[in-house]
Amino acid sequence: MNIALIAHDKKKEDMIRFCIAYETFLKPHRLYATGTTGTKIMEATELKVHRFLSGPLGGDQQIGALVAQNEMDFIVFFRDPLTAQPHEPDILALLRLADVHDIPVATNLATAEIMIRAIEQGELNWRNYVRKNQS
Ligand code: PGA
Repeated sequence: MNIALIAHDKKKEDMIRFCIAYETFLKPHRLYATGTTGTKIMEATELKVHRFLSGPLGGDQQIGALVAQNEMDFIVFFRDPLTAQPHEPDILALLRLADVHDIPVATNLATAEIMIRAIEQGELNWRNYVRKNQS
């Protein structure tokens, strides 16, 4: 699976804890992240993460491009619901594209934990067929 990991500044600690707790589950997947989130994950774990630009500089849009091409299978996006973000339009665009392509998005730790266990049990394997059969 191609999995995107994004966390706003006040949620980066949650993301690191999530990645440490589920490192074994995440390891077999191709991981992508916005710049700072990816760096912090790699510092805290042995996971290999493809890093895009920092979110406010276009990283969300780069991940959105993969979603638009139907190449992203799951997005963990720990948004900060209490702080205004300068790149709010990019965030909304990414979430919109995820809905266009029916891509699961976990915006908090509780959902991410349920989803990662579901992926482990093969609940998202249909994505492999979607990607293979897309024109
Ligand atoms: P960052 O971007 O990982 O580079 O901090 C995340 C964001 O704010 O969208």
